[in-house]
Amino acid sequence: MGEWQRALRAEFPIIAGHPELSYLDSAATAQKPQAVLEAVQAYLTTTNANAGRGTYPWANKTTSLVEETRDRVKRFLDDPDPERSAVHFTSGTTDGLRTVARDWLPQLLADGDEMVVPVADHQANIAPWLEVQRQLARQGVHIRVLPMPYQRSSGDYDHRALESVTGPRTRFIAATHVHHVYGGDMNIHRIRRAVGPDAVVCLDAAQSVGHLPVSAAELDVDFIVFSGHKAMALPGSGAVWARQARGPVFTPGGWSGTPNTVGIASLAAALDWLAAAGTDRIERWTVALAARLTDGLRRLDAYEILGCQTSLAADAAVQRRRGIVTFRHRAVDSGDLGFILFSHGFMVRSDNHCQGSAGERTGSVRVSLHVYNTVEEVDRLLSVLTSLG
Ligand code: PLP
Repeated sequence: MGEWQRALRAEFPIIAGHPELSYLDSAATAQKPQAVLEAVQAYLTTTNANAGRGTYPWANKTTSLVEETRDRVKRFLDDPDPERSAVHFTSGTTDGLRTVARDWLPQLLADGDEMVVPVADHQANIAPWLEVQRQLARQGVHIRVLPMPYQRSSGDYDHRALESVTGPRTRFIAATHVHHVYGGDMNIHRIRRAVGPDAVVCLDAAQSVGHLPVSAAELDVDFIVFSGHKAMALPGSGAVWARQARGPVFTPGGWSGTPNTVGIASLAAALDWLAAAGTDRIERWTVALAARLTDGLRRLDAYEILGCQTSLAADAAVQRRRGIVTFRHRAVDSGDLGFILFSHGFMVRSDNHCQGSAGERTGSVRVSLHVYNTVEEVDRLLSVLTSLG
C-alpha cells in the first residue's frame, strides 16, 4: 500500500508543503486534497449563485449541484432505499444532531417513553437529547433517559447491559459510530440486536464518515449525521441522512435561508475523492498506523492508553480500534505533553476532548490519523515519547 499512500499524500498541499510538521489531529478536522480546493475555486469562479431561487444558468447549476450532492451523500452512505430517504445539509455534526433533536424527536416521543443517551460520548451527542427531555417536561410529557451502558475496560458500549435496560418503551437510541476519545468502533450492529426492530437509532458518524466505509444498509440505523470538515470538505458543511422508515417523517422545520453552497460543492468533491481513494483502503491504512502506535505505547511503562487494551496488536484477529489513539503520560501533564510534542513538529490534541459528564476527568493526548500520515511519522512520534519516558 506504500505507493498508493505516497501518491495520495502528495495530493494534500498543506501536508506536502510542511514536511517538517506532522499533522496528527484529523479527528478535530481533516486536511483537504487539491481536488477539493480546485472544486471550491471552480465553483466560485464559474457558477456561484444562490440555490433554488433563480431562472438563469448559474442559479440553475447551483440548484443542481445541491440536489446532486444529496444523491452523492446517499450513494456514499450505501443507502438501502434512496427513493425514500432524505439528506439535509447542516453546518456539521453538532448542528445536525441538534436539528434531529429539535425538529423531529419531539414528534416521536410520548409521555412515559424512554431514550438512550451516550453519556461518555461527545457533548454534541448528549446535550440536544437532554434539552428535548427538558422541553417536553415543561409540556407535561415525561421522558426517561437511560444512560448508555459502557464497558470501561474496552471503551465499547455494553450491548448486553443495553439489552437488559431497554424495553418496549425505549423509542430512541443515540449512539456514536467511532468514539472520538477511545477510538473504538462501537459495534453499532449489536445495538439493533439489543433494542429490537422498532427503536430509532441515530448515529453520530463524525469520526467514521471519510475514515472507513459507512453502510446505512449494514448498520440498520435511521439517522447518520456527520461533519463535512472531518471528511475533507470545508468547515461549515455537513449532513443529516434520514432513512424515513421508522417514526415520523423527518422534515427539518422553518425557513433555513441560503444554503452553504460553497461547502456543499466542497462536500461533493470530497466524497468523490474519498470514494476514488477507497474508504476501505483508508481504513486499513489508518488502522495499521494506530495499531503500530498502540503496540509501541504499550511497551512504554510511562504511558497509559485509554480505551481498549486488548486486541490492539496489528495481527490481532479482531481490531476494534480505528485511527484514534489517546493516552496519558503518568507524570507529565497532557497539556505540557502537547507543547513538548509540538516542539518536535507533532500537532496533536491535548485536553479533555469535549467528552460528556461520564467521560474522562483528566486530560489526555489524542493522536488521530488519516491517509496522509505515514509509518515514519508514527515511529518518530514513538521515539520522542520513548525519550520522555
Ligand atoms: N461528534 C463527535 C464524535 C465528534 O468527534 C465531534 C467533533 O469533534 C462532533 C460530534 C462535533 O462535530 P462538529 O464540531 O463538526 O459539529
